[in-house]
Amino acid sequence: MPTHADARRGARIPVAVLGATGSVGQRFVQLLEAHPWFRLAEVVASGRSAGRSYGDAADWRLDTLLPASAASLEVKPLGAELESRLVFSGLDSSVAGEAEDDYANRGVVVVSNSRNHRMDVDVPLLIPEINAEHLGAIDRQRKRRGSNGYIVTNPNCSTIGLAMAIAPIERRFGIDQLHVTTMQAISGAGYAGVSSYAILDNVIPFIGGGEEEKIETEPRKILGRWESERFIDAPFRISAQVNRVPTIDGHLMTISLKLRDGGADLDAIRDAIRSFTGEPQRLGLPSAPKQPVHYADEQDRPQPRLDRDREDGMAVTVGRLRPCPLLDIRMVALVHNTIRGAAGAALLNAELLEARGML
Ligand code: NAP
Repeated sequence: MPTHADARRGARIPVAVLGATGSVGQRFVQLLEAHPWFRLAEVVASGRSAGRSYGDAADWRLDTLLPASAASLEVKPLGAELESRLVFSGLDSSVAGEAEDDYANRGVVVVSNSRNHRMDVDVPLLIPEINAEHLGAIDRQRKRRGSNGYIVTNPNCSTIGLAMAIAPIERRFGIDQLHVTTMQAISGAGYAGVSSYAILDNVIPFIGGGEEEKIETEPRKILGRWESERFIDAPFRISAQVNRVPTIDGHLMTISLKLRDGGADLDAIRDAIRSFTGEPQRLGLPSAPKQPVHYADEQDRPQPRLDRDREDGMAVTVGRLRPCPLLDIRMVALVHNTIRGAAGAALLNAELLEARGML
């Protein structure tokens, strides 16, 4: 397999995408086209797509052309033997759990978007800017599997936006509790997710698949620590309410939070947000935003259409920081759900693994 140095010299590492025909899978295919380290070599989907060319099987919906090199690949069935040792998963969660375990047990590194393994006791729920040290769990996972393969997951799309927005505050001031209300774009439900007749002229105050529970639990693992063979959750409590709204891309959320020691120096919090940085920035990873969390000064920002594409969709934007009459502070945050919230996050995770020599 090419080394990190080979990758930098131009021999790109062959990778496969599981669930390549779906909403997240198409983002992987798009983002991999010009990736400097990874080359899309294999695409995998359900029996409905297997055996067809990717161009024929994928109902391509993105606003860039389907890459010709991807269009000609033959779609492989789930479970097929793969030549790639690195696999990205955008599989439907009904099949992701078992399939990802199966590939990891066969020695493959699986970088997944799906929810199935996020809370496993030895699986990192990774946001490289926040918890790169959670990769310590991989040794334990490899021992359990008796294999060199392993799974690394990225959080739920809203969780990534929330965790990135609050990490600078948690790290510098400490958080006691928070309430978040999300307004989530329709692309988050996948192509077959919400019919246009249900969502146009409407807001749906429910998202299935345990969305609120994920947002209430995942940030505590992410902002917690890996210590002596186990994860210790961050102690703060979260209450989440989620809504599906008729935007295409970009999950917007309003957040109210209570700081551990009270008080609220808004200028110091803005400074913590703007100066927040992490391992991807230090390592200069190809998908890393220069500034992971932007602060928008305008009183009516962030907005999905205007702010979701900051730093190619990899930066989270925060704005409207002000005192909260019930808790200490409140603010608005925005994340591009299929880039930073899904495929882009997984690519950044894999870049960190490569830079650390773990592939
Ligand atoms: P999607 O558009 O419905 O795509 C699902 C993919 O899984 C398709 O490629 C589909 O292949 C494949 N698949 C379905 N059943 C299968 C089976 N029995 N065997 C093999 N492959 C099968 O879903 P999505 O929105 O991309 O979401 C994919 C995963 O990422 C989900 O677990 C979701 O929770 C997670 N996620 C999504 C987002 C987002 O913003 N959309 C963000 C973060 C995480 P066919 O086309 O052949 O059916």
